[in-house]
Amino acid sequence: MIVCRSQAEIDKLRTVNQLVGRILSELRQLAAPGLTTLDIDRLAEERVRAAGAEPAFKGYHGFPATICASVNEQVVHGIPSDRKLVEGDILSIDMGAKLDGYYGDSAVTVAIGKVAPEATRLLRVTEESLFRGIEAVKPGGRVTDIGAAVQAHVEANGFSIVRDFVGHGIGTSLHEEPQIANYGPGGRGPRLSDGMVLAIEPMVNAGKAAVKVLSDGWTAVSRDGSLSAHFEHTVVVTPDGCEVLTRLTPQDAALAGR
Ligand code: MG
Ligand code: MG
Repeated sequence: MIVCRSQAEIDKLRTVNQLVGRILSELRQLAAPGLTTLDIDRLAEERVRAAGAEPAFKGYHGFPATICASVNEQVVHGIPSDRKLVEGDILSIDMGAKLDGYYGDSAVTVAIGKVAPEATRLLRVTEESLFRGIEAVKPGGRVTDIGAAVQAHVEANGFSIVRDFVGHGIGTSLHEEPQIANYGPGGRGPRLSDGMVLAIEPMVNAGKAAVKVLSDGWTAVSRDGSLSAHFEHTVVVTPDGCEVLTRLTPQDAALAGR
């Protein structure tokens, strides 16, 4: 069942998702050569707890940290470690939090210092594809319209959509129905309705789409070793489209064209 949230619930979801967005904006600005992914995780946990919230990923199926930190060919679910970031890396930071019984979830991929032009393009196309997906959200539309829009943009730019992981509904649990694949075809499956809350999260490989999970049981990497990027926003369906609950930075607003 896909839940449609009341206005009071949407207010709570907005609060926690804006918190996640704010903390991610800070982490995004701070990520730099010389820092370890564990440094970034510690700061994230501090900020989440200082706001009276709880990390949503820590302890989730045994995941040990507040953020997922996935570097370069790592796609998602990287475990923060003493790995030092170096100039030219790209770092995906995914973070969830729980406040007052409701969940927030968002992800960004950040360039560490100066990166290769292909990496810059991968980040741009992946974030753009997220906004193409968001623009496809409207009441009466279908959940699969989101993935169709994401896929079209990614493939038009010569990159590959990862198929092994999906976006999801979110609310009083981190992962709720529906699953949101990042590929089409659209026009089928459940209809979108006012009050549905969705975490949309394309993962895009510069090379082929195939991924594998490393022996730590978590870290997913591209099989061909190509760079991978991941962006995620949580949105609520409104009468005339949707509201991005995690969007706060001017950069995000400019990309969305709103
Ligand atoms: Mg996430
Ligand atoms: Mg998510």
